Amino acid sequence: MAENFIERMTWPEVDARISAGVDAVLIPIGTTEQHGPHMPLDTDCFIARSLSERAADLGEQEGVSILVAPTLNMTLSWYHMQFPGAIRLSTTTFFQVFREVCDSLAHHGFENLVAVNGHGGNIAALTVAVNHYFEQTGRRVFLVQWWDLAADTLGEVEGPMIHAEEAETSLAIALGQRVEMERATRDAWDRGAAVKDAGFQWTSFGQYGMRHAGPKVVVPMDMLRDITASGVVGDATRATVETGERIVAALIPRIVQVCREMAGKE
Ligand SMILES: [Zn+2]
Repeated sequence: MAENFIERMTWPEVDARISAGVDAVLIPIGTTEQHGPHMPLDTDCFIARSLSERAADLGEQEGVSILVAPTLNMTLSWYHMQFPGAIRLSTTTFFQVFREVCDSLAHHGFENLVAVNGHGGNIAALTVAVNHYFEQTGRRVFLVQWWDLAADTLGEVEGPMIHAEEAETSLAIALGQRVEMERATRDAWDRGAAVKDAGFQWTSFGQYGMRHAGPKVVVPMDMLRDITASGVVGDATRATVETGERIVAALIPRIVQVCREMAGKE
């Protein structure tokens, strides 16, 4: 396999890849925040980076040239700040960082940029960011998120799918993250009940996890330590490598397909 991480290449190597033609650049986006007592703080970064690496490798086999930008590893984790180690950028700073990263890549002639987001707390901001970036520059950046792009593989996952729970832990295991399953917990299984127990406002239409179809109302994130002692929201104890591998098997070819189509190579 060729080296596909931009930051691991020399500048003549980057130059040679540009000359040969790059179909897309993936921008892994994670964050630094607690992932329960069973996974490290870099879990979202690890997932986004690993998925990007595997997609670039598969692209190489299929004639789609994909590079991977450095991972954005500090983003929107304000609601994890009660747990040790979290690092937050303000939402406005994050918008600026995202834009300047995209501008830098575009400066070098990379026309097709795909953000690979591993952090649920970035969904709303990144959705705004890619639209705002198009409005401002006329350049489209696509946004890939594993829970969306592999949604059809998540049918057997139970519960709220919010944080460090069954699906995310399974994916982390499958990708080789350090996961200490004997420390995995189940917590805040019913987000609404947990929020109400903590004395905060809630509505019975409150959005409940990634797959809540509705009718629904979007409720802002909770300060997580108010509703979960362990940091898990959902059930991490149900995680299996098989579930994770099913997600990975669906995702990687689809990420390559996004790059291929973005480059007009259908
Ligand atoms: Zn996560």
